[in-house]
Amino acid sequence: MVVGNARFRGGVHPPERKEATSGLAVTRVPVPSRLVIPMSQHLGAPCAPVVAVGDHVRRGQLLGDVSAMVSAPVHASVSGTVSAIGPVLTTGGTRVAAVTIQPDEEQDLEAYVAVVVEGDDRDRVRAAGIVGMGGATFPSVVKLTPPKDLAIETVLLNGCECEPYLTCDERLMVESPERVVAGAQHIRDIVGAKRVVIAVEANKPAAVEALKAHTQEGVEIEVLPTRYPQGAEKQLIYAILGKEVPHGALPAATGALVHNVATAAAIADALEHGKPLMERIVTVTGAVARPGNYRVLIGTLVSDLIEFAGGLVGDVERVIAGGPMTGQALASLDVPVTKGTSGIVALAKGVAARAIDGDQPCIRCGRCPEACPMGLEPYILATYSGKRMWDAAAERNVIDCIECGVCSYVCPTKRPLLQLIRLGKSAAMSKGVK
Ligand code: SF4
Ligand code: SF4
Repeated sequence: MVVGNARFRGGVHPPERKEATSGLAVTRVPVPSRLVIPMSQHLGAPCAPVVAVGDHVRRGQLLGDVSAMVSAPVHASVSGTVSAIGPVLTTGGTRVAAVTIQPDEEQDLEAYVAVVVEGDDRDRVRAAGIVGMGGATFPSVVKLTPPKDLAIETVLLNGCECEPYLTCDERLMVESPERVVAGAQHIRDIVGAKRVVIAVEANKPAAVEALKAHTQEGVEIEVLPTRYPQGAEKQLIYAILGKEVPHGALPAATGALVHNVATAAAIADALEHGKPLMERIVTVTGAVARPGNYRVLIGTLVSDLIEFAGGLVGDVERVIAGGPMTGQALASLDVPVTKGTSGIVALAKGVAARAIDGDQPCIRCGRCPEACPMGLEPYILATYSGKRMWDAAAERNVIDCIECGVCSYVCPTKRPLLQLIRLGKSAAMSKGVK
């Protein structure tokens, strides 16, 4: 039964394509021959390595850190020897410094160097390197520290997983519901909220049942309609609380704090066991021989992961990190899985969910403004961004774009709207537009 209160404006319901993996239990990917661990796996300042080439490191050991508040330390996901430190290509197409580890032959993946810090739970979450695992990679400690004048009444856990193809959060909720619920309670206690709501889309009945079987007093499970982008922060707050995040304000201004379910489970592991964020579940699906949900060590190369999934099959047009609506098309498969890599989706020719290379003119059909969940005019924003008219794009609130990709998805002429609008948004942000 769907019990969500309010439906957000716009949005779409693309083919879900989750059936290949949603019923498959998570399996662990073996330790690869080398792991490449980027020093920047989060929004904010990159870490500086604290190890040197030739050092032997143990699983869980700190590899890099930085004193900036908006940052997250990085840890070794295996025991082994540091074989290189230098820039590498990432899933986002940028080059960042990374520590390469040659793993020891013997590995005990149950063991790790636990994080021990003096301080409160927020300090422990930071020291464990926890970031938003839904893809945003915002350091969790920052979200757990809202401005003092904003009282947090409700913690919302996002278990919507509204992107097509992805089922890693679904499997986490089915297989480890108690970790998700425990994480929700920790977050509630840290921010002093009264209410906890775990939101799940209606297309995940097994996850709903599992969570309900493990729910604790004060933790509610809400089932929402299946509609993209239901899991976007502002849309989720509106669906559950009926409140709109004011223009230019933090979501916390509504009294709500949103965390992804995998992030919550990682927070529980960090606080209860001192476990740093060293691995995650990744959905590998689409045109691969063995689609599945895989427990992957951070730093595993996408090429190794795809090989473990049986390799690419057929005529693959592009491989995407993340979901097809918001993910990044990979320029190379020799890029490492990081804390924010929720999926690797191989798209065969003709099934791409959105335009990436299109350059057809706008035919003024009106579909993109109708579907935009933020009430923007994507066709105008894209035109301004394409002509580098940054001020004009800023005046039309390009900053409010949540980069959901709905506009690109609905455009009949396949204009690369999202890519253009991202340029305009980043120009506005660099000018300090709020
Ligand atoms: S303009 Fe931004 S928020 Fe609106 S549909 Fe496009 S990507 Fe989504
Ligand atoms: S959906 Fe595409 S063609 Fe239609 S108005 Fe928007 S940009 Fe133009």
